[in-house]
Amino acid sequence: IVENHGRDAHRLLSMLREVQQKLRHVSPLAQRTIAESLGICITQVSAVVEFYSFLSTTPLGKFDIRISDSITDHMLGSRDVAARLCRRLGILPGETRHDGRVSLTFTSCTGLCEQGPAGLINGYAITRLTEERTDRIAGLINNDTPLDEWPGELFTVEQNIQLTDRLLGNPVQPGDALGRTLALGRETMFGEIETSQLRGRGGAGFNTAWKWRFCYDGPEAAVCPPGQPAAGIERYVVCNADEGEPGTFKDRVLLQSSADQVFEGMTVCAHLVGAKRGFLYLRGEYLYLYDRLEAVLAARRQRGLLGKAILGKEGFDFDIEIRLGAGAYICGEESALIESLEGNRGIPRNRPPYPVTHGYLGQPTVVNNVETFFAAAAIAVHGGEWFAAVGTEKSKGTKLLSICGDCARPGIYEYPFGVTVARILEDCGAADVLGVQIGGPSGTFLSDKEFDRKLAYEDLATGGSFIVFDRTRDVIEIARNFTHFFAHESCGFCTPCRVGTPLLKNLLDKIAAGHGATGDLAELSRLGRFVRSASHCGLGQTAANPILSTLERYPEIYQARLKTIDFEPGFDLDGALATARRLTGRDDANAHLSQS
Ligand code: SF4
Repeated sequence: IVENHGRDAHRLLSMLREVQQKLRHVSPLAQRTIAESLGICITQVSAVVEFYSFLSTTPLGKFDIRISDSITDHMLGSRDVAARLCRRLGILPGETRHDGRVSLTFTSCTGLCEQGPAGLINGYAITRLTEERTDRIAGLINNDTPLDEWPGELFTVEQNIQLTDRLLGNPVQPGDALGRTLALGRETMFGEIETSQLRGRGGAGFNTAWKWRFCYDGPEAAVCPPGQPAAGIERYVVCNADEGEPGTFKDRVLLQSSADQVFEGMTVCAHLVGAKRGFLYLRGEYLYLYDRLEAVLAARRQRGLLGKAILGKEGFDFDIEIRLGAGAYICGEESALIESLEGNRGIPRNRPPYPVTHGYLGQPTVVNNVETFFAAAAIAVHGGEWFAAVGTEKSKGTKLLSICGDCARPGIYEYPFGVTVARILEDCGAADVLGVQIGGPSGTFLSDKEFDRKLAYEDLATGGSFIVFDRTRDVIEIARNFTHFFAHESCGFCTPCRVGTPLLKNLLDKIAAGHGATGDLAELSRLGRFVRSASHCGLGQTAANPILSTLERYPEIYQARLKTIDFEPGFDLDGALATARRLTGRDDANAHLSQS
């Protein structure tokens, strides 16, 4: 495996994925062998193994099942599915069966929120886990039927495109955007992207033309020490396909239905910034897309749309490599993603410098997400004015939304920016709505009094997740699910987030279980604000959003869950005193403290 990867330590994650696939785990021996072969320290290898949740140091089952723990899967019954599977297979969650046949655990989110309950088997997506399908899967495993002989319908992933506008409604044919880019020339095409006012679709909304321009214009000054030439500088284009925000699945659909257009957008970018190499960083949960995407890349090479002298243009060389993630939400953050591409743990870097000047291998790197490159290809064909003709003053064009939860028609919807939440709810068939989570767990929870608000950077910025909750749902349970998600996904680099997110989780669990007191609510709010202000990256800075935004909107629901005392310990107080009673030989009434 190491040889196949050219003994390149930057490809460590890919090597470890392959070892895991062959051995069902990455054993200490395998770690040592890889470290010695690469000439790196074993701790560097073990740190990476321990960081990514899809890698395991102990053997997983021949059939490794991971059920999605996302809130939308919970709402569709994922916990019942897991319990049923465990019964049928004779295991407990987190266990590998004694014969090594099967293991079952939970995973944060599979990006299949509109067709859950969903999960992964040996990394491949399984959807709509009804009781009947669950029993069939258990039967196939108990009969030891090889995965490639399972009925294909178990692995069907629907696209569910419900509403199209100018992007989805005007697909770009392979080569059209590149042809126009070459015909117009670099500066004119830069002008088109600038006119479009396209902003990065991941949520932060940085101006795409500026980012590309910084990469093309500015890096020499930033990268080279004064007086040194710019020779040796390589530029890179990275497509972030690591959408891991629960409730988001639009990039999955774009890669399923329009990968050619996404690669075309990356190639247009490469031409403008002068990059020769690109990466598509594909989240590990989308393994089932890998072969299809490779086939699209191969077809593009065949047609002269990738490789040397693209479309016959001497010097226009560019190719794209797909790299798979391994179950770490934080790798959606661009600097963590670059660390992962370099074979490291996905720990966000200090910024500045920004990846656009000091990215992959310290070189100028454009990182944009799937939807941004998809839109850029359309702009290259239809022009900046065409794109900017819809939207609002500061948010031009259209936005793709992944809509799921309590609605009749979940799926992908494309709207011009400025659309109201009320309109979206009507379109997707939502009724009796309690609230909507905009932008995933790191976003905002809107109550039914705010449905006239608009999706736009000026009002509600979003990466595209839109989860609907009706009045049967429990607000505290929603906040609890999201808070558990952040505590699980914290990379552990900085103390406020590493320590703060589990504290928030424990406090919220205590309140949800009916053990909370008035002081706990104040502490929840204080701690949440602290984690928000003191954390190193966006994950920690938004981890308290589910708590703070629901506390602000529904204080009465939290209040109603409290006990009418000022302080309540978060553990079994009387049980904790049992050892002391035994040691002192006391068991009188005063040696017992009641929590009620
Ligand atoms: Fe890691 Fe959380 Fe700190 Fe971000 S805020 S660097 S995820 S520990």
